[in-house]
Amino acid sequence: MSSSQPSILKKLISNAPLRTVLIVPFVLQIIGAVGMVGYLSFRNGQKAVNDLASQLRTEVSSRIDLHLDSQLNTARHLAQVNADAFDVGLLDPKDLDKISRFFWKQMQLFNVGYISFGAPGGEFAGAGYLEGNIVSSAFINPKRLGYQNYYFYNYNTDNQGNKTTLIDIYKNYEFQKELWYSNTVKARKPTWVLYQWEITPYPLAVSANRPVYDKNNQLIGVIGIDQRLSQISDFLRQIKVSKSGRTFIVERSGLIVASSSNEQPFKLINNNPERLNALESSDRLIRSTSQYLVKHFGGFNNIKDTQQLDFWLNKERQFVQVLPWKDEWGLDWLVVVAVPESDFMAQINANSRTTILFCLGALVVATVVGFYTSRLITEPIVLLSNASSAIASGKFDRTVEVSGQNELGVLSQSFNDMTKQLRDSFRALENTNAELEQRVEERTVELKQAKDMADSANRAKSEFLANMSHELRTPLNGILGYAQILQRSEPLTHKGRGGVDIIYQCGSHLLTLINDVLDLSKIEARKLELHPVAFHLPSFIQSVAEIFTLRAEEKGIAFDLQTDSQLPTGVLGDEKRLRQVLLNLLGNAVKFTEKGRVIFQVNVVRIAEFSDLTSQLENSTQNLYKIRFQVEDTGPGMRPEQVSKIFLPFEQVGDVKKQSEGTGLGLAISQRIVGLMQSEIAIESRPGVGSIFSFEVELPEAQDWADSSRIMEQGAVLSYLGKKRKILVVDDRWENRAVLVNLLEPLGFEMIEAADGKEGFDRALAMMPDLILTDLAMPVMDGLELLRQIRAHPQLRETIVLVTSASVFDIDRHKSLDAGSNDFLPKPVQANLLLGLLQKYLQLDWVYDETVDADKKGQEAIGQSKMQLPAIEILHLLNEQAQAGDLDGVIEIADRIQTANPEQAVFAQKILVLAEGFQVKQLLALIEEHLSQA
Ligand code: ADP
Repeated sequence: MSSSQPSILKKLISNAPLRTVLIVPFVLQIIGAVGMVGYLSFRNGQKAVNDLASQLRTEVSSRIDLHLDSQLNTARHLAQVNADAFDVGLLDPKDLDKISRFFWKQMQLFNVGYISFGAPGGEFAGAGYLEGNIVSSAFINPKRLGYQNYYFYNYNTDNQGNKTTLIDIYKNYEFQKELWYSNTVKARKPTWVLYQWEITPYPLAVSANRPVYDKNNQLIGVIGIDQRLSQISDFLRQIKVSKSGRTFIVERSGLIVASSSNEQPFKLINNNPERLNALESSDRLIRSTSQYLVKHFGGFNNIKDTQQLDFWLNKERQFVQVLPWKDEWGLDWLVVVAVPESDFMAQINANSRTTILFCLGALVVATVVGFYTSRLITEPIVLLSNASSAIASGKFDRTVEVSGQNELGVLSQSFNDMTKQLRDSFRALENTNAELEQRVEERTVELKQAKDMADSANRAKSEFLANMSHELRTPLNGILGYAQILQRSEPLTHKGRGGVDIIYQCGSHLLTLINDVLDLSKIEARKLELHPVAFHLPSFIQSVAEIFTLRAEEKGIAFDLQTDSQLPTGVLGDEKRLRQVLLNLLGNAVKFTEKGRVIFQVNVVRIAEFSDLTSQLENSTQNLYKIRFQVEDTGPGMRPEQVSKIFLPFEQVGDVKKQSEGTGLGLAISQRIVGLMQSEIAIESRPGVGSIFSFEVELPEAQDWADSSRIMEQGAVLSYLGKKRKILVVDDRWENRAVLVNLLEPLGFEMIEAADGKEGFDRALAMMPDLILTDLAMPVMDGLELLRQIRAHPQLRETIVLVTSASVFDIDRHKSLDAGSNDFLPKPVQANLLLGLLQKYLQLDWVYDETVDADKKGQEAIGQSKMQLPAIEILHLLNEQAQAGDLDGVIEIADRIQTANPEQAVFAQKILVLAEGFQVKQLLALIEEHLSQA
């Protein structure tokens, strides 16, 4: 949380225009400061008001308390004093005039309403206020005088208190029935009575009454001192609490005793006055305060001591103080002070409003000032930023107007200086660039010339090499050809034969060298291309491995072939070139390893799906295999600096004796071939430990490898006419048997398999096959021994036997032919060669699927039947050249036939294969055969 907030703020600030960034904090500060001051003054004002209101309530209620004390104590004391005067005999109950004059005198001194004395016999004396004047009254019971009714007499007085004139007489007015008298007589003790005068204006009075008894405890009369409650109301009105504040006094019953409102504390119902309850007061504040008190305390009776409270009336706070007031004679009242808060807050609220207005004013002023200030600041910055954008987009002629000497002025000046410097630097740079470009152009021209020269020199070199090797091959062909002829036919001395062998070996070596040079120059001249064909991968690997199994055995080192079970059966690739590379790597490994082992590993690195063009049409995908070939040996190994050299042509490192056996070209060629396959050969080598050569190539799977292998010139071979033929395949490797079985079984041959010579012989005897295909190197019994036994067996003697071998040594071929094989088929088996041999020896008529075009599949179609032949003279020429051992001459003629007469390509190919393989004997036989046919 803490980390995200600042970053959001930062983002906001960095995205807002500069002007906003300057104004907003400014305005916010002002709002903050003014708002805070306003709030604090409001709060403090409110607090002061609360304190003041509290003080005021206390003050007011204590004043009322004091006033009540003085008013009511006076009444009480006067009642007591007068009663005492009777008690001690200062006043005679019979002398009513005297009593009333005494009372009149007291009225002059004390602030009371009326002083009365009533005797049980109906005598009455009194003095007091009547409609604003002090009057007196003294009379005996009128009934005693014989009157029917009661009367009450009021007199004006002189300044000594003597009765002068009669004011009025109240008929049927009996003081004995008044509460002040009757209640006191009943109570027999001093009492307070709150009662309403029965004469207009019905003043409400509270009277302090005291009964007077004689020595015999006989009632002499009752002294009553009336206090008019209107006087208390006047007092309450006179204390100004606040503009709309109220004070009032209620009895515990809720009846109003006095109040500061103008309302009378009673109402007239049928001309009868009736006391008013505070809960029904027409004054809103008195009414609601009473209601609140009743609600808050559960009745007036429950208020025991002084309380300060507040309550809400119409969303305005009202401060209330309630004070119980009691006296010795039993008065029990509540003095209530209620003040609305608004009376005090009005000014404060007005102040708050002024503050807010000031705030708003300040805000407007601050915003305007901020706006102009920020404009003053941002304008030059905006100019600067525009100018820098312009410069960034390459307009170096832009400058900023310099104004003033302050920081912005200095910044603008520096900016202009910087722009100028930049402009100068860029000009200089442009000039340099132009110069450089000029130089580069010149150099490019020079380089191009040099390259052209080098290219043409290189071409010349390649051509020279090609021509040279051709020239060299011609005599070499003679040497090799005749060496072979001598080896096979001429009777020679032991030494002579040895010499011929050496001639043959040296010639072969030279031929390899020449072929390598030719390959390399072809690669360098970019004439070497890959020719992918579908082939059987396991038997391919097997045939390569087989060659070295024998060699390793001869050298006394182990040879391990480790293949991955995931390897595909058929793949599409340049079998010939792949074989060349593997032969080179394995050849080196076996050659350089004196003890230990050579491990040949073939693994699947990755299988991916891919769709090639042909299979896309059929809407299907095939697998693309990435296959790793690795040759590991325990040979001498190489130092890193040696490793870095060995891919260079003619570079040989290490043992000099071994070097003489090679040409130093193998790895150079191999690396280039693997390069054509979009990969490269990697080496890990440690001196004294051994070397690992490896490369990974991508080969698409070819599930139809067998079908596409069977395509001949006339189309794909489907089957053959005539009876079913049996073929026995003798090979210790399942891969090799599998490729033959897969190729031939679909064509309708019955295939029999045997894993060694012994088993082969037994099966041959049991099954009597039409043809036997046998390997040479096999456990238990090898191919040569099998051949010998077959030829020696009366039943099998005539069986056609074809030897298939991976051996590159012609000696094996010779040996097998000597041992009685009908023909020799090199491994890996080439389907069209095999089919050609089968057709020849089993006299088969193939059934073709003619919809399949042989050329389209890029297969070399070599068929025997209906093969178009060149003219007889050409055949003779070929024969001459072959007889003379000029195989290059033969190759040249065959090449020419192929280009000039594509329909004779099959024948030409066959000649080429034999000539390039130095198979002079077969070559001669083939030419002779066709010559005899022609
Ligand atoms: P060469 O025909 O001499 O074998 P290559 O190009 O095949 O020519 O090899 C070049 C040189 O690399 C070899 O002469 C040898 O010094 C070194 N070399 C190649 N393979 C191995 C290996 N497996 N162990 C040690 N040295 C090797």
